[in-house]
Amino acid sequence: MTPRSPATDTARNVLGPDFAGAVHIPGDPGYDEARTVFNSMIDRRPAVVAQCAGEADVARALRFAREEELEVAVRGGGHSVAGMALSEGGLVVDLRRMSTVDVDREARSARVGGGATMSDLDRATQPYALATTGGRVSTTGVGGFTLGGGSGWLERAFGLACDNLLAAEVVTADGSTVHASAQENPELFWALHGGGGNFGVVTSLTLRLHDLPAMSMALLLFRPENGPEAVRTYRNVMESAPDAAGGACIYITGPPEEWVPEAMVGRLVCAVLVTCAGTEAELREVAAPLLALEREAEVIDAIPYADLQCMLDDPPGMRNYWSAEYLDGFPDEAAAAFCAAAATMPVPSGSQHVLFPMGGAVARGPADYPLPWRSSPWAVHPFGVWESEAGDEEAKQWVRRVRGDFVPWASGAVYLNFIGREGQERVVAGFGEHAYERLSRVKARYDPDNVFHLNHNVKPAVAEV
Ligand SMILES: Cc1cc2nc3c(=O)[nH]c(=O)nc-3n(C[C@H](O)[C@H](O)[C@H](O)COP(=O)(O)OP(=O)(O)OC[C@H]3O[C@@H](n4cnc5c(N)ncnc54)[C@H](O)[C@@H]3O)c2cc1C
Repeated sequence: MTPRSPATDTARNVLGPDFAGAVHIPGDPGYDEARTVFNSMIDRRPAVVAQCAGEADVARALRFAREEELEVAVRGGGHSVAGMALSEGGLVVDLRRMSTVDVDREARSARVGGGATMSDLDRATQPYALATTGGRVSTTGVGGFTLGGGSGWLERAFGLACDNLLAAEVVTADGSTVHASAQENPELFWALHGGGGNFGVVTSLTLRLHDLPAMSMALLLFRPENGPEAVRTYRNVMESAPDAAGGACIYITGPPEEWVPEAMVGRLVCAVLVTCAGTEAELREVAAPLLALEREAEVIDAIPYADLQCMLDDPPGMRNYWSAEYLDGFPDEAAAAFCAAAATMPVPSGSQHVLFPMGGAVARGPADYPLPWRSSPWAVHPFGVWESEAGDEEAKQWVRRVRGDFVPWASGAVYLNFIGREGQERVVAGFGEHAYERLSRVKARYDPDNVFHLNHNVKPAVAEV
């Protein structure tokens, strides 16, 4: 148990009287829940978890942390695979109570609290048949997701989540509030398009919404021996598909669900998912070559977008280790490597071996954002998920091996939200060298002491003398 320090003891007193949220210190009944994140491998004991109810709480918590010299972590959805939402012995600015979503139907935008989840956002916009690109799991935080870029089923139609960021409120390290938009503080606004939580606590984001009158999907299951043909066919389909189409090829352990044949449950399965921001008839037209293949099971249907967003929700309490490579192309040899790597994926487990198509509005988005991977046509995302410590080495080695397998096609630029801590070189590659330097200058202006360093960290530029 973390010993109570003077800081933990004074936290409640100092933050207490005017703090609208809740303060948890070691020994409190809510403390363990407050320090639990998605990846159960992360077991850190902060000195203070400040569950903020609004901007003023955030500013107060940041000032307190600085006075007490506590390391600061910022928590949105708690989905960072490296557990960047928690500090050992420091103070966590926990935003989960700030989850309100206000939809402006006329303006076609939503103002989203810095601690809202994808589910909060999708459920709020759905009644208006409006949506924006969101993460593929409903419990992911809109904040960490969007600030890192934001990739989801709708990205080929509507761009990355950050391409839809219209404005943000940011509480900076000294506790002041800064509004960022294309008109106000434009350099900070630019940096929030992929630069992550490096510049302050984003207490609200305003996102552009798009009309989404219909959504549909086809989930097709193939035996592993038929995987290569299915994967190549999916590639061919996506290379000429309209922007409305998306999806993924995902090797998984066959789930125990009614529509899955018993022989596939608990075994390696190649799943091909085609999503369509359109009707089932439009989906069937796009997916026709895949629907001509022999398969073991399928679900093809219209589906409300917010329901599609929950379809891959993982149970909490699992161990996680992931990585990714963004590819310059996906020739037959790469497809063969992708399918071969599936054969070594630990099964049964919750692991997923994913191939995402990019392109469409992602590739056409602003080229100067710190997202050099946006021009890659394909991404491979080995997503290790397993239950117990005994599986740690096997899962990690599998993920690292997959990365190695894709070196021949990798662009080197990687989406940082899809990886854990892989060293500063990967961080710079994730932003691009030129953009990293620009981010460093923004960092020097808004967070010169690098208070916000529990992230894919941008070091503040050193002023020239
Ligand atoms: C099951 C699962 C599925 C996922 N699927 C996708 C996907 O489909 N597409 C995709 O792009 N990514 C996906 N991700 C990755 C996800 O986008 C990143 O892990 C993201 O950083 C999570 O944000 P969070 O707020 O949930 O996490 P946290 O761990 O709370 O935060 C992550 C980082 O962002 C910072 N941060 C969070 N909120 C704020 C804020 N409001 N202000 C300032 N800094 C903040 C934190 O300090 C931390 O450094 C997935 C993750 C998981 C676990």
